[in-house]
This record gives sequence, structure tokens and C-alpha cells, in this order.
Amino acid sequence: MPEKIAMKTPLVEMDGDEMTRVIWKWVRNLLILPYVDLKTEYFDLGLENREATRDRVTAESAEATLELGVAVKCATITPNAARVKEYNLSEMWKSPNGTIRAILDGTVFRAPILAKGIIPYIPTWSKPITIARHAYGDIYRNAELAAEPGSRAELVITAADGSEKRVLIHEFKDGGVVQGVHNTDESISSFARSCFAYAVDTGQDLWFATKDTISKTYDHRFKDIFEEIFDKEYKSAFEAAGISYFYTLIDDMVARAVRSEGGYIWACKNYDGDVMSDMAATAYGSLAMMTSSLVSPKGVFEFEAAHGTVQRHYYKYLQGETTSTNSVATIFAWSGALRKRGKLDGLAELSAFADRLEKSTIDTIEAGVMTGDLYDISVTPGKKRVDTEAFLKEVARRLV
Ligand code: NAP
Ligand code: MG
Repeated sequence: MPEKIAMKTPLVEMDGDEMTRVIWKWVRNLLILPYVDLKTEYFDLGLENREATRDRVTAESAEATLELGVAVKCATITPNAARVKEYNLSEMWKSPNGTIRAILDGTVFRAPILAKGIIPYIPTWSKPITIARHAYGDIYRNAELAAEPGSRAELVITAADGSEKRVLIHEFKDGGVVQGVHNTDESISSFARSCFAYAVDTGQDLWFATKDTISKTYDHRFKDIFEEIFDKEYKSAFEAAGISYFYTLIDDMVARAVRSEGGYIWACKNYDGDVMSDMAATAYGSLAMMTSSLVSPKGVFEFEAAHGTVQRHYYKYLQGETTSTNSVATIFAWSGALRKRGKLDGLAELSAFADRLEKSTIDTIEAGVMTGDLYDISVTPGKKRVDTEAFLKEVARRLV
């Protein structure tokens, strides 16, 4: 066995729940530990430990990320009423991703993992489209009311000095509904910076769209902030990288995306990103082939799979059945984090290992060896369906 690849700075390792927690260990043991002298600062975000630490562990893992710079996260349960009962929780702890994002801030980038034989529903999409979703405000932080017949709705802003700005929304003859939404210049600016930085980092064009022709103040502010930050801070870096920034209207954007071959980042306002990321994930074939990375304006990164803890498979696993859960997005969370760590620490060997790990994974699928979810949609001749562990061993065999 050749010498293991050395690391300098530890990764923040955030363990999680259910089937992905099982896969986490397998990936670590079979694909990372034999090759890398792995250094991590380990945080157990499994629901039992969140309960035991009154969820302090989640905030601590995010704070460690601010300090160390790169985190890799396993999928975690977001408790609902059923989970409170199942795990006998003292509180319905908040979504760990929500807690982490509140501390790190930033933008989530979701990118499909492509392999020959898995054909996108839009066949021209031969390169990945990365969706960057703004994760603050708009209808997700709205205020809304039902209006009775005969009522009058106004939008009022009271300034610090008590002066008012007021505009009529609608006079209701019959009943209706009213909604108020907001965003902040600070949040829009950090969204813009994350997108530009990610485009430079990955060498891809950035596309952005809103409805500024209709929303002349609200959506137009997004357009203006992007343009200003691009001109002042990123124009020369884009030129040096040979990439471009392109703005258009959201309806034109959707039409262009469908006709495109992919290979760019699509920055979306909050709602557009919610809708378009599900569309893109499905169009590329599978949620289990989608990576997710959080890029913080504080200069730190977190890598994870886009899917959840795959609860249904976990219950089968607990019954002693073999499962065919797809581990690809979890492998890519590790490779993404190791590559970034290698880049930041000047460890070319570590980054090269991340590339090899990804290549071995794709090679395995392209050789026709895959888990059940891909088997069902693959067109590779002689394809073979394997369970989770057998797939990982096939990847390990190709990883030299
Ligand atoms: P899920 O874990 O993403 O799974 C939904 C279904 O998608 C599965 O039942 C499976 O379909 C398919 N699937 C997802 N990932 C797969 C994989 N790697 N390999 C094969 N099939 C895969 O979503 P969920 O069941 O709605 O949520 C379970 C838990 O995950 C919840 O407690 C939720 O809070 C949590 N969650 C966490 C995150 C996160 O940490 N980022 C994100 C989403 C959800 P079949 O059953 O048809 O095989
Ligand atoms: Mg959604």
C-alpha cells in the first residue's frame, strides 16, 4: 500500500441520521481512510446527540466551520411531530441546515452529477446546470392577510423619524387576499457575491434572471445590485477566467435554459430556485445524483448530498435486508470537501485524490454497475444492479 496522502487542516465532519449515517461510515472506511491520512473535527449531528446536547452540537459544528473553513455534512432528520415521538425528543429541534445557514449565511449551489447511460429528460443537457438559490426573504418571509369585501389595502413604510411612505394596493369590492414581502440589500449583495465567487472558482458562466420589467422597484433592485457588484468587484476576474455574466428576464431565461446544453450557473431568486432546483434535479435523472454546497460570504464552505436520510431504506436495513441506496452524492460531498481543503492548503495530491475518487465513481456507473435507482433509468447495455456496499467496493476497486 503506498503512503497515505497527508492533510494539514482538519475538515469539519458533521455526521447525520438513518441510511445516510450508515453509508457515511462505509464511504469513510472503504474510500477515504485507506488513501488519506484523514484529519477531521467530528461533530455528531445525529438526532440522538442533538437531543443530548440540546442541539448545541449543531451550532458548534457551524462555528468550527467558520474557524476551519471547510465542512462535509451527512443528511440529518428535521424533526416533525412523528419524529418527536419516534425519538422521544424534549423539543422539536430546528432544521440543522437552517441553523447552520443562519450562522454561515450564504448561497446553496446544487449541481447534477452526470454519467453516460443516464440520459437527462432534456437530451440537449449534456453539461450540468448548477442552480444557485437565494435562501432569504421574498414569499418565505411574507406577511399576508385575507381582505373582506369593501376593504382597502395599503402598503405603509414608517421611517426611523416617524415619516410615512404609503401606496394603495387595492380597493376590494369583493373579498380577496394581500401579501407583503421583503428583502434586504445586505442579503441580496451577499447572494450576488457568492454567485460571482462560485462562477470564478468553478470556471462557469453565471446567468441571472428576475421579472424587473413588471417589478420595477423590487426585482429591479436585485438586477442593479448584481450589476454594480459585478462591475466593481468581479469584472476583471471573469475576464481572466474567460467566463461571462448574463442577465435576462425570468421567462426568457427558462426558454433559454431548455434550449441550452448546460454548463453554467443559474442564479435564482428564492422562489424561482425552489421550483427550478426540483425541475433540474428531476430532468437530470435522480435526486441521488445531485450535490449541494453552501458558499458563505465569510469565505467558508460546506458540502453535502442534496437528498435526505432515505428513511424508507433505513427501516429495511434495520430489518436485515440489503439495500440499494445510492451513495454517489455522499461520495461527492466528501470529494468536494477534500478538493477544497487541498486547494486552500496547497495540497495538490489531496485535490488530485478527490478527482480520482469522482472518476472511479462515474467509471463504475458507466461500466454498468449501479444501485437500483439508476438501474431503473440507465440505458447502458448489460447493466448490473448491486447493493450499496457492493457498489462502494466496485468504486474502491477502480480507485488506485
Ligand atoms: P429522502 O431521504 O431524500 O428520500 C425520499 C425518497 O427518494 C426515498 O424514499 C427514495 O425513493 C429516494 N431517494 C433519495 N435519496 C436516495 C438515494 N441516495 N438512493 C436511492 N434513493 C433515494 O427524503 P424523505 O424521505 O422525504 O426524508 C427523510 C428524512 O430526511 C426526513 O427526516 C427529512 O427531514 C430529512 N431530509 C434531510 C435533508 C438534509 O439533511 N439535507 C434533506 C431532505 C430531507 P424510494 O423509496 O422510492 O427508493
Ligand atoms: Mg422545494
